[in-house]
Amino acid sequence: MPLNRCLSPHVPLAQAGHERLTWLEPRTGERVRVKAWTCDCRATVYGLCTAGGQGFIRRTLQREGSPEVHETHRWTIPQTYEMWAAVLSGMAR
Ligand SMILES: [Zn+2]
Repeated sequence: MPLNRCLSPHVPLAQAGHERLTWLEPRTGERVRVKAWTCDCRATVYGLCTAGGQGFIRRTLQREGSPEVHETHRWTIPQTYEMWAAVLSGMAR
């Protein structure tokens, strides 16, 4: 039986009526801390990031060659954790 290597959560299917996040080109040149992430066994990986006292969610589409990276608008840190919970429960995408 194969080892289960999935230690991070998987994003479920989006629920009906889920909030649609706006995905922007990533900013560059800032120090970003990734506080949590979803499992990288999936093609699309989400990360909860903080930078400069604000938070946002980063979405990485893993592809051959270069990954495609987008991120949300900035929120307060508590708002970011709320949105992260919404993403992990399929209520935002
Ligand atoms: Zn996994």
